[in-house]
Amino acid sequence: MRPLSLGDFEGHPVIASESCAFDIIGAQFVREIEPGELVVADADGLRSERVDLPGSRPAMCIFEFIYFARPDSQLYGRTLADCRFEMGQQLAREAPVDADFVIPVPDTGISAAIGYARESGIPYTEGLLKNRYVYRTFIQPDDHLRQLGLRMKLNPIRTVIAGKRLVVVDDSIVRGNTTSSLVDMLFKAGAREVHLRISSPPIKFPCFYGIDMATRAELIASSHSVDEIRRHVGATSLHYLTVEGLQASTGLPESQFCRACFTGDYPIPVPEELAMGKRRFEKSPGNPVA
Ligand code: SF4
Repeated sequence: MRPLSLGDFEGHPVIASESCAFDIIGAQFVREIEPGELVVADADGLRSERVDLPGSRPAMCIFEFIYFARPDSQLYGRTLADCRFEMGQQLAREAPVDADFVIPVPDTGISAAIGYARESGIPYTEGLLKNRYVYRTFIQPDDHLRQLGLRMKLNPIRTVIAGKRLVVVDDSIVRGNTTSSLVDMLFKAGAREVHLRISSPPIKFPCFYGIDMATRAELIASSHSVDEIRRHVGATSLHYLTVEGLQASTGLPESQFCRACFTGDYPIPVPEELAMGKRRFEKSPGNPVA
């Protein structure tokens, strides 16, 4: 089969899950697919159909803004790098600290770290180098693999870190174990203080809409206070962005989003048997089955 070239897209409509894909092929972004809209691609081309769902509301996953989507993509008309920058600024206002450098956990913490640095006046620098050939660690199947993945994924730049008080900006903490390894790695590289700043609120509730993040028992914030999490991960200090601060950073009303993993307020009620089914397989000390 002949490989596709950029010319093959000229004059043809294109659909993609993220707008950054259009930049790559030189396509023009027209609009987002709307809630309740079905786009059909068949031999006749593209057509749009709508399903009327009375009483429903849009409920975009707010994690797209925090982590999932690429920062150069647009959602709801906003470029995500700008929103993440504002999350970092908001975090600096909510949780200021004296430090020598702000460093990101690359790549997803970068925009928020720049925002934190800009708002706080603390210099931004690279303290962790990313291996570009190892991907997301939080969806790997067990702790050992996740921690091995972290060591393969990130390497500290010792000459930057040694003797310094660091603000370390990351997008989220799911189970906490990857974060523990990260903090340990920074202290072993000579950091004097590690102040963790997280550009999302604590994740307390599982996702029932397709994001395979973790079960409730695995989510460290579902059963631990912020200070307990701080002690678990070994950081000098730990602060999360508030739900209100996160919402303000999107520049959009909360009625547009799903924020259930932070608030427990699911936009579509979760059937009891589904909730039970998910809990049945949760790992916990009292559940030897999992
Ligand atoms: S529960 Fe969380 S991860 Fe799942 S769709 Fe809602 S905001 Fe996104």
